[in-house]
Amino acid sequence: MIPFIDLAAQQKRIRPQLEASINRVLDHGAYIMGPEIGELETQLSIFCNAQHTLTCSNGTDAIALVLMAKNVGPGDAIFVPSFTFAATAEVVAWMGATVIFVDVLKDTFNVDPESLKQGIQRAKQLGLHPAGIIPVDLFGQPADYDEISTIALNQGLWIIADAAQSFGGTYKGRKIGSLVESTTTSFFPAKPLGCYGDGGAVFTENKDLLKTLQSLRVHGQGEDKYQNIRIGMNGRMDTLQAAILLEKLRIFSEEISLRQKVANRYSEGLSDVAVTPFVQEGCISTWAQYTLKVDPEKRQDLIEGLKNEGIPTVVYYPLPLHHQRAYSHYPCATETLPMSETLARCVLSLPMHPYLEPEMQNQIIQSFCDLASRLELKKWQS
Ligand SMILES: *Cc1c(COP(=O)(O)O)cnc(C)c1O
Repeated sequence: MIPFIDLAAQQKRIRPQLEASINRVLDHGAYIMGPEIGELETQLSIFCNAQHTLTCSNGTDAIALVLMAKNVGPGDAIFVPSFTFAATAEVVAWMGATVIFVDVLKDTFNVDPESLKQGIQRAKQLGLHPAGIIPVDLFGQPADYDEISTIALNQGLWIIADAAQSFGGTYKGRKIGSLVESTTTSFFPAKPLGCYGDGGAVFTENKDLLKTLQSLRVHGQGEDKYQNIRIGMNGRMDTLQAAILLEKLRIFSEEISLRQKVANRYSEGLSDVAVTPFVQEGCISTWAQYTLKVDPEKRQDLIEGLKNEGIPTVVYYPLPLHHQRAYSHYPCATETLPMSETLARCVLSLPMHPYLEPEMQNQIIQSFCDLASRLELKKWQS
């Protein structure tokens, strides 16, 4: 079986550097908040031009920390796209606030500004306070921050960019991380920049917010370690993970270019048989996933046919959040969210990582095209 994501190829490339970095931590022994934490925060800020970076335990806690800093609670309505990973909505539920699901656009799969406007009306009808929006940069492509920021400004909403899949990407010439007041990301191993366990970060332009986040990350501590001035959490990143990320960050820009090449080869080879991904003008995706749209009637046959050829595929995501049992009681911007529902039926993600060799990729493309003709697959538009 071809790997869906090949983490071993990257490890092989930088194994000596990783070992040296891990060994430095074993030598100094500062496993919690060791020097690598501050060093990584500095390097991440430089990488994405953010004013401040706070590393943390994972990408879910990263969003939760910002929500806590903003005192989000019951009565607040927070707008979240329905077509995303559950973590984006989960943290809102933790705070006792109300998730309002909004629909996404058919080509970028990101927040639909019109649906967001409808969601704000819905919140008001329900007697809720529209507080904030958490746009997601799905599959690595930035959401349309100009459009979303205009609405947010008009309505007095804050924005937390969930860049768990897009860190390293670019929106109209600007790196993800400095576009809005706060951006969060994940370093889960399979994300474009991943560590060897759990990890995450918050990027912010607001110094006061940073101070609050630093306190929340360590049980709401004050000036003194055993002084607690707010309810916080244990949200620290391990020093070992920071040491690993410092080495991976050095080759990350190059890896994003390699991912772009892989995406280009797929799109050249497959655009006759499937709807290939659309990237907005002036944006660079990190290609966390390379996702096609295919005829829903034939998707299962495609999945099985490719599997028989040793080619793994994944459906991200088979069920929009507003249809998930845990979230179905939350309101939606409109009665149905047609695009989220359609996408869940037609998307299909192919193997994607920076080290996918051209020969292997040609084999994937060839198998896909052969199967497409056998299944009489037509280019299918949602
Ligand atoms: C992975 C992911 C998260 C959560 O990150 P973890 O580090 O796994 O907690 C949040 N949002 C999106 C869109 C993700 O893809």
